Amino acid sequence: MIPSPNEENKELLGLARRYLRQQIEMGFDHGYGLPLRNPAESAEQQMEKLYQQIKNCTKCPLARTRTKFVFGEGHPQADLVFIGEAPGRQEDLKGRPFVGPAGQLLTKMLAAIDLKRSEVFIGNILKCRPPRNRDPLPDEVCCCEPHLLAQLSILQPAIICALGRIAAQTLLRTKSPLGRLRGRIHLYEDIPLLATYHPAALLRNQNLKRGAWEDLQLLRRELDRLRAT
Ligand code: URA
Repeated sequence: MIPSPNEENKELLGLARRYLRQQIEMGFDHGYGLPLRNPAESAEQQMEKLYQQIKNCTKCPLARTRTKFVFGEGHPQADLVFIGEAPGRQEDLKGRPFVGPAGQLLTKMLAAIDLKRSEVFIGNILKCRPPRNRDPLPDEVCCCEPHLLAQLSILQPAIICALGRIAAQTLLRTKSPLGRLRGRIHLYEDIPLLATYHPAALLRNQNLKRGAWEDLQLLRRELDRLRAT
């Protein structure tokens, strides 16, 4: 299940998220246990501080069922950030994102556009595994999204790639099918966002491969263009 706000709520949510982001940008800890950003600290130090602050999060019931908190990993100043839905079984056991079969395919997808995992950042909307990999619940997204916003405020990426329908619909606050969302650039908190198929879907359905390759090439082109500006 994904949040499905009506138009009025959508506007309010957008305002709330912008406020939250401004607060983080200005360095305020507004009760979410988010970092007091210190420009004197490196992005790596800020990321480590954020990790220490949120790794024992108990804001939602997933804290009781998780094995490990999956913070995300990669370059602390990555200009490209991949965001999946939530940790699966392997990720929950290891405490690392995208390390199961879908993760192995993601690593290959990155290599196909000449990127390494270490130069991008890979994370999820939820930091804890939902039981039996069910879809994230709206309350869980509400509790966890500030963590993602705090990560993005440190990373300051040029572009985000949402992996799969749930990540794309949740971040873009829409119910549009992934087929309508992919292939063009959206904005998430003023950051360009491209949506593509989840690698797990690509493992299940070979017919999606061609579209995924087109998305990856678009992502690479946009990244190069944004790097040059
Ligand atoms: N699927 C996701 O969406 N995220 C992971 O980290 C692993 C599988």
